[in-house]
Amino acid sequence: MGLSRNRGQTTLKERVRLSGVGVHSGAEVSVVLNPADPNSGISFLRASDSGDIEIPARSSAVGATALCTVLGDPKGVHVATVEHLLAALAGLGVDNCLIEIDGAEVPVMDGSSRAFVEAIDQAGLVVQSAPKRVLRIDKPVRIEQGEAFAEFLPHDGCRFEISIDYDCEIIGRQAYTFDLSADGFRRDIAGARTYGYLSEVEALWAAGFARGSSLDNAVVIGDGIVVNPEGLRYPDEFVRHKVLDTIGDLSLAGAPIQGLFRSYKGGHRLNAAALAALLAESGAWTLRTAADERETRPAGRVEPAAGLAAAAYAPEVR
Ligand SMILES: [Zn+2]
Repeated sequence: MGLSRNRGQTTLKERVRLSGVGVHSGAEVSVVLNPADPNSGISFLRASDSGDIEIPARSSAVGATALCTVLGDPKGVHVATVEHLLAALAGLGVDNCLIEIDGAEVPVMDGSSRAFVEAIDQAGLVVQSAPKRVLRIDKPVRIEQGEAFAEFLPHDGCRFEISIDYDCEIIGRQAYTFDLSADGFRRDIAGARTYGYLSEVEALWAAGFARGSSLDNAVVIGDGIVVNPEGLRYPDEFVRHKVLDTIGDLSLAGAPIQGLFRSYKGGHRLNAAALAALLAESGAWTLRTAADERETRPAGRVEPAAGLAAAAYAPEVR
């Protein structure tokens, strides 16, 4: 079962609200997920002093980033820390959604996508008349950054092959292959929390960042142990969270990717650079509608990601 196999686009059946604190600001923020028209995609509607401003969840809207993924103008109207919410929408196959937000940062919730998945499930999904679109990988595209690499390959389906290798016993080498489906996302990926080292979190606190960060919204590693009293949710929670982040980051392509994405020692920065390289290479991909397999021209729909910068939620910075 699952709407993800359906040939029509999907949106929420009704609006749903959730609230929490931003991990960097510590400020209380509320988010309302709204149904949206076919072909409108995912976008944020940010309430600001100068009125509501719409910011599309597209790679072209990524601003300069330092501590997290920021969409919009980092010095003006923007929305930060969007990755775990975008992962939930992409993971459950939601094509169209208007996200109203009354602050500058998506709430961190428990550091995973779980609360967003629960909100979307609570609202329910409806299938729309417009056919689902996919961005099909036609040719391999690969980038390298030192030891790290990322590549897109043609594949009949949407697969993520993610591996990480930390010089730290608690994490070490972990690899995970995930074939995207809504049920699989709920079960295997959505609950994996963000993570970081205690020393780094303390440094961020000292610098005035990560003010909303606590053991309630991150796995914290200190002195060779997981500090959280409840321990890990999965033995390989770290690499599963990398899969979650990757699903969110790559959703900025503007359509679900049909292909295989493989990365080694990756993160937001590598994902963003890989997506930019893919979109910039005409002939490497085609935007297609799933309904009739008729090719549609990508012009104006998925534009190269000019200015796409490093995107990282600080505790995940290597
Ligand atoms: Zn993350």
